[in-house]
Amino acid sequence: MNIHEYQAKAVLKEFGAPVPRGAVAFSVGEAVKAAEELGGALWVVKAQIHAGGRGKGGGVKVVKSIDEVRAQADAILGMTLVTPQTGPAGKKVGRIYIEEGCDIERELYLSALVDRATSRVAFIASTEGGMDIEEVAAKTPEKILTITIDPASGYSGFHGRNIAFALGLKGGQVKQCVKLIGTLYKMLVEKDASLLEINPLVVTGAGDLICLDAKMNFDSNALYRHPDIVELRDLSEEDPAEVEASKFDINYVKLDGAIGCMVNGAGLAMATMDIIKLYGSSPANFLDVGGGATKEQVMNAFKLILSDDNVQGILVNIFGGIMRCDIVAEGIVAAAKEMDISVPLVVRLEGTNVDLGKKILNESGLAILSADNLDDAARKIVAQVKEAA
Ligand code: GDP
Ligand code: MN
Repeated sequence: MNIHEYQAKAVLKEFGAPVPRGAVAFSVGEAVKAAEELGGALWVVKAQIHAGGRGKGGGVKVVKSIDEVRAQADAILGMTLVTPQTGPAGKKVGRIYIEEGCDIERELYLSALVDRATSRVAFIASTEGGMDIEEVAAKTPEKILTITIDPASGYSGFHGRNIAFALGLKGGQVKQCVKLIGTLYKMLVEKDASLLEINPLVVTGAGDLICLDAKMNFDSNALYRHPDIVELRDLSEEDPAEVEASKFDINYVKLDGAIGCMVNGAGLAMATMDIIKLYGSSPANFLDVGGGATKEQVMNAFKLILSDDNVQGILVNIFGGIMRCDIVAEGIVAAAKEMDISVPLVVRLEGTNVDLGKKILNESGLAILSADNLDDAARKIVAQVKEAA
């Protein structure tokens, strides 16, 4: 689960990490009030969306007067912000963050994530802050330091010092860095965060370290023990179909291909997506309806697929182990009664009650192409979609 920058900064602050003072605003009036309360002579107006690269897209403005705060708040609130991470459709800005301005001496890069390869928390640091870290990694990998922390021994000062030296920090900044990395590690572990990115981490004119930007992700499987984090969820930032799917406990990820997939089991779902690619098309979604899905879940899953305008064909691939094929068939028929199926539908059923499942589908009057195995199913749906196009 993702949260906004201002929320991430509040979490950082709670743990004692240095962040600028600021306040969130949902209206121009609130923005002006926030700037007045912050005081000073320099403010930053920042669009709050779940995507980075906001600066490049015009969503981060440094201003020098309350009038400018008002003007920028007015311009940014409600705008559709397009950044390299939002895709061409962009994201509508519903809230902004008003922050005290910061005197920047150097912009550094710092992030931490759960690294699956080493099964450890990894910290990534670079002197090349403020910009695209992927580009730095591709062109000048020697400018990136990665260290991992052994969970058994935990964080030690030498981890922080390694990072501080790689970042070219001196004197008191080294101490600040050692403390900061320790704080971030503690936060990451205690909050079950899966990713934290501070880009940029800055050295101020006064020589202090401060987290100027913050992106934070949390492990969704651990949210049950973090009600405070769950409260930060902003559903308007998530894909409506994915939100809908989560209500029914369906694992659904929207993709941009043409073939809607309904599958049981994540492994089978991935294999189905691969084979669709192999035969020259691409999946419109990942959908794992679960091992023991009910008729209602199958029906809702099917409706989710049908509600996606990009879907030009549907492939149902079910292996009935715990799941029964007749339940799947009933779910499909029930969904078809409520929504028009105007695209080709290929169904591959195998396993428990397969004959009954096939019978239900055959007698439903739906135009269904049945397939005997996954290979056959993928070939058929790709051919159907190509023919219709
Ligand atoms: P992102 O573009 O979504 O990653 O948003 P950031 O929060 O990283 O802001 C983009 C850039 O705006 C930063 O890299 C800074 O160069 C600049 N910026 C942000 N806050 C301040 C500030 O307080 N003062 C100044 N001078 N620049 C800032
Ligand atoms: Mn940034």
